Amino acid sequence: MSKDSESSVFRVLDEWKTLGIRGWLEANHPWFYFAEELGAMCAKIVGAESEEVVATSATTVNIHSLVNTFYQPSGKKRRILADELTFPTDIYALRSVMKLRGLNPSDNLILVQSEDGRFLDEKKIVELMDENIALVFLPSVLYRSGQLLKMKYLVEEAHRREISIGFDCSHSVGVVPHYFDKWDVDFALWCSYKYLNGGPGGTAFLYVNRKHFSREPALAGWFGYVKEKQFNLSLKFEHSRSAGGWQISSPAILSSAPIEGSLRIILEAGIDAIREKSLKMTSYLMFLVDKILSDKPYSFTIGMPREAERRGGHVALEHEESMRISEASRVRGVVSDFRPPNVIRVAPIPLYNTYCEIWKVVQHLKEIVDKKEYERFPKERKEIS
Ligand SMILES: *Cc1c(COP(=O)(O)O)cnc(C)c1O
Repeated sequence: MSKDSESSVFRVLDEWKTLGIRGWLEANHPWFYFAEELGAMCAKIVGAESEEVVATSATTVNIHSLVNTFYQPSGKKRRILADELTFPTDIYALRSVMKLRGLNPSDNLILVQSEDGRFLDEKKIVELMDENIALVFLPSVLYRSGQLLKMKYLVEEAHRREISIGFDCSHSVGVVPHYFDKWDVDFALWCSYKYLNGGPGGTAFLYVNRKHFSREPALAGWFGYVKEKQFNLSLKFEHSRSAGGWQISSPAILSSAPIEGSLRIILEAGIDAIREKSLKMTSYLMFLVDKILSDKPYSFTIGMPREAERRGGHVALEHEESMRISEASRVRGVVSDFRPPNVIRVAPIPLYNTYCEIWKVVQHLKEIVDKKEYERFPKERKEIS
């Protein structure tokens, strides 16, 4: 938790105490406009205009909202193209979107396969963009291997075939620069609690390209109403011609407040500087793993792309004892996480981690193997690791 996030939460708590309901218009950052204000801040790090981004709902809800809006099956074009390495919630949501339309996901959801279980080949993705595809929905960075997909290229190829394309950028916003407008992405969404440091279960974000502002939001709700007229309380829904139109409910002010402090820091540091340091940090970590941990008895391998332009913000280490090594590292104060079947994700955060800490992480991993510390942990999985 950053000091700035902490102070923005305390400010909101104090306003709640002193202003009560008046905080909606009279708070230092009025709650009624807070979602749009955070959207405008976040727009600067994703290459969008202020009105194209809003802080709202939760990541998976935003998938439902935007995929339902942009998935318009017609004629032969009935299929959605996604991938088998994405975070499972994305696939659950896509399947449920289809079922709600009375379409069978086994026929209509096409998943790009990975050859090695780690990476996706963009050329293969493009080959699957045939005349049956209505929508492409992909992650920006794969949560396990850390591969950063070539979003610009994928957008160009999708649009050449008149296919809409959107991205789940949960694993890239805050550590990789995005250029949604320049790339002409149709829509995107992301969480605030990974590289944005916005707090546990914090409000998520969504982007809608302004050329789509007139589309009707599929999951309508009164906070998506034209702002000036929302409190006329008309039964006829008229959505805001902005990303704000895709809001559904009253904004969760307490889960949004920390994001404000956090975004202030990210904007002050600058996303290009953050990316530059992130790449140096992940390169340094890979260098040390290659030098110190690759031979026997350590036998770690690096399961992520080596090229800078294909890498997100974390390093994927592979080891047959990944789960137990990850647990042993936590006891030593190293917060990594295990992702089945054999990946330890180590994410050095440019805003607060140091190069010295990276060196120490590698020493910890080395000692864990030297002393076989991982053998003290059971082989079964815990609920959350
Ligand atoms: C973290 C993450 C989510 C999280 O979804 P929630 O609805 O916020 O729980 C979804 N998709 C991807 C790709 C993620 O990395």
